[in-house]
Amino acid sequence: MRACTLCSREARGFYYTHQLRPDRYPTYPFCSLRCLNASAAIAKRNHGVIDKTELEIQAIKAARRNFAEVLTELGLMAPFHDRTPEEIDRIIEACIDGFQEAMRRETLNDDIPF
Ligand SMILES: [Zn+2]
Repeated sequence: MRACTLCSREARGFYYTHQLRPDRYPTYPFCSLRCLNASAAIAKRNHGVIDKTELEIQAIKAARRNFAEVLTELGLMAPFHDRTPEEIDRIIEACIDGFQEAMRRETLNDDIPF
């Protein structure tokens, strides 16, 4: 299975190549027009390259805020107060990895109707 460049769900026949020049730029698979369009915008800013690692780093940083909000709501901020951003990111990454793995398994089993 080819995974969507942006969200790692199963790719479904959507492709992007910067300036339609596969001789000069990599071709990326996507699950949907939505992921394709979002990535095309990134590729235009980034010389035809979609750096997923860079995107993930940005997305994890963005998720820290949501994580902190939930901790505050649940009164759990104190135990996390002295933790480094790297440790917080490990927790967020663990959730994302687990989620994506489960989604991939479900997709392969065809348990989720599309
Ligand atoms: Zn996608």
